[in-house]
Amino acid sequence: MNVSPCVIGAEQILTEDTLDVVNPSTGELLGRTARGTQVEVDAAVAAARAASEDWRHTPVAQRAEILRRIGGLVTRERERLALLESRDTGKPLTQARADVDVAARYFTYYASTVEAFFGNSLPPDGEYISYTRHEAFGVTGHIIPWNYPLQIGCRTIAPAIAVGNCSVVKPAEDAPLSVVEVALLALEAGLPAGVLNVVPGLGAEAGAALSAHTGIDHLSFTGSVPVGSMVAKAASDNVIPVALELGGKSPNIVFADADLDVAVPVILKSFLQNAGQTCSAGSRLVVHDAVHGELLNRLEKAVGDVRIGAGPADPDLGPLISQKQLDRVTRMVERAAASADPRIGGPKRVATPVGGFYFPPTVFDGVAPDHEIAQDEVFGPVVAVTTFDSTQQAIDIANGTEYGLISAVWTKDFATAMTLTEEIRSGQVYVNTYGAGGGVEYTFGGFKKSGYGREKGFDALGEFCQTKSVVLKVAQ
Ligand code: NAD
Repeated sequence: MNVSPCVIGAEQILTEDTLDVVNPSTGELLGRTARGTQVEVDAAVAAARAASEDWRHTPVAQRAEILRRIGGLVTRERERLALLESRDTGKPLTQARADVDVAARYFTYYASTVEAFFGNSLPPDGEYISYTRHEAFGVTGHIIPWNYPLQIGCRTIAPAIAVGNCSVVKPAEDAPLSVVEVALLALEAGLPAGVLNVVPGLGAEAGAALSAHTGIDHLSFTGSVPVGSMVAKAASDNVIPVALELGGKSPNIVFADADLDVAVPVILKSFLQNAGQTCSAGSRLVVHDAVHGELLNRLEKAVGDVRIGAGPADPDLGPLISQKQLDRVTRMVERAAASADPRIGGPKRVATPVGGFYFPPTVFDGVAPDHEIAQDEVFGPVVAVTTFDSTQQAIDIANGTEYGLISAVWTKDFATAMTLTEEIRSGQVYVNTYGAGGGVEYTFGGFKKSGYGREKGFDALGEFCQTKSVVLKVAQ
């Protein structure tokens, strides 16, 4: 069986110990991956440091050209990468294909934008002229989760290397395969050895080694709140900045005048996409009393049509990532069922395929805003429905969790929409649509415990740079 290696410099390095990679759709062994430790992290950081001076001085147009080529190779390998991602994460093939397209777009988007990014000057002020320079940090560390390894990996790698950093990436142990493939494609595209290094391994080993490493100048972490907090503490010992992309409990807020024909399929997708294992999943449905009954009836019908199956067979809903995740979701749903109404789904109500880690779509109705199922991230295909009768109550409920990642407002009333876009405390607000995480171009990041720092869009280029002001005295 193939072992997915570490990619350090131009080398593919195997480790003595390996980690099993399980196929979530079957529960069977899919492959093995290197188990990187402090030794491999040290080597990867050294390779990145060695490449750093040349890469940051490489003309931006040349760096952009290489990024464009990486994007092209990711697209060339679309079917292979999509199948690999679908097998590794369990996500439906159509979603995996979309992930590959987005991954490729990160490289082409940042190839274009980085060329327009460098160089701001302030108007001359008396005897001074000043300008700002955006300079690469040097070596950036990236710790990524298992739910969208390709998308999130490329979302953070592309802007970091575009501005001239060299990167060391630690994929999640549950789904490490596609990120290693991207690193190999990047070498094929002509990215100099050492600019992008990947060390698969356990969080407590390779992840902890990377986050505490004294050779790292910036860390970006996407994952859970407790681990993000640990990573930030480790980084603070080295006084380096961290971008934290953490969890969410994002609401769809549906007013009485909403167009339910448009809203219902989008709401359904928002909590089922990737089996609900999406940081920006629409896991809360906050609905006006006047349309609650109608909306729930429509949702119930739509859920009834959902096809559940193995990711590569391209169903609507695939499995969860692991037995551990299935146990966690089951426990949370069973706990909630004791005090809230699982109107649709729940652990025992809908048949799911045998083998693999499947959980049916589940809708809890009549949930109090402070109930655990409306407050904590489930990371499964589960939505909690809460009602409101005034705009202020909708705002209070929307803001009433410790998260603030994304939100959506469904209304035809412009004033109501504008009020909510101002009052809701989340990094993205959608009106009459829901773009889990949004497009490549939309700045993304959290308020409150959803994290800090910004990725995607133009802002990501700034995230991976430090700014230097240069002031010239022109008159003596
Ligand atoms: P996790 O925090 O357990 O793991 C994330 C990464 O951290 C993995 O690579 C893991 O190996 C590593 N890690 C674990 N322990 C570590 C340690 N001690 N030191 C350093 N690294 C360590 O999260 P997960 O289970 O992989 O992902 C689920 C969580 O991620 C959810 O809470 C979800 O909301 C969040 N998430 C957020 C975003 C976002 O963009 N905001 C995107 C995807 C997932």
